[in-house]
Amino acid sequence: MSISPYQQEHLEATLIAAKHLDSLNPHQIEGLKTAACEYLLFRNDVDAFLNTYFTSICTQQCFQSNISACCSREGIITFFGDIVINALFSSPADINILIRALQTPNVGLKCIYLGPQGCLWRIKPIVCQMFLCDTAMHQIFSRNPSVESAWKAMKNREKHFTWPDKKILFDDVETFFINAGYDSSLMYLHHSPGLLFVKKRAGL
Ligand code: SF4
Repeated sequence: MSISPYQQEHLEATLIAAKHLDSLNPHQIEGLKTAACEYLLFRNDVDAFLNTYFTSICTQQCFQSNISACCSREGIITFFGDIVINALFSSPADINILIRALQTPNVGLKCIYLGPQGCLWRIKPIVCQMFLCDTAMHQIFSRNPSVESAWKAMKNREKHFTWPDKKILFDDVETFFINAGYDSSLMYLHHSPGLLFVKKRAGL
């Protein structure tokens, strides 16, 4: 049994990220980490928000009952920037775990990255970070509208890194790799007709 096209795409992108990052000097690595600083602060804020309002409901209703509805097989869109930023802050051993998972045919119904202790990524894809199922949202937001407003503010902040109507981190990361001669089908900010249109309309 061979791996799926989805795994192949992710595997190729992960190998590209690991190879190029490995070839950079410490100054270049620091430059990339500095560029990602604001994004990491955002991710910390989202983690804090989710831990405060959603951890107990998600653990109780989904993880403990083994539903894990948000980690279904090949259910997520992953940006090339997700893969690079995760690799940037991961050890070689962390990356090897991802590569081994991607090289193994997925015979289950769960995401290829879902291990026994949870997600195998250090900094999981932004789509996963910002996903809340309808049941969880309804239970929390119906009791506390101010939490819903705070979540909407988080969703707006997300766009500062992923929505290309302005200069954004995820586009810059792709450009950095393209300028070094690499390409990936996960470089949506350079290949998706819809996102290219957004950039064009914004004059980018
Ligand atoms: S990448 Fe991680 S968080 Fe996202 S669906 Fe897969 S296991 Fe879940």
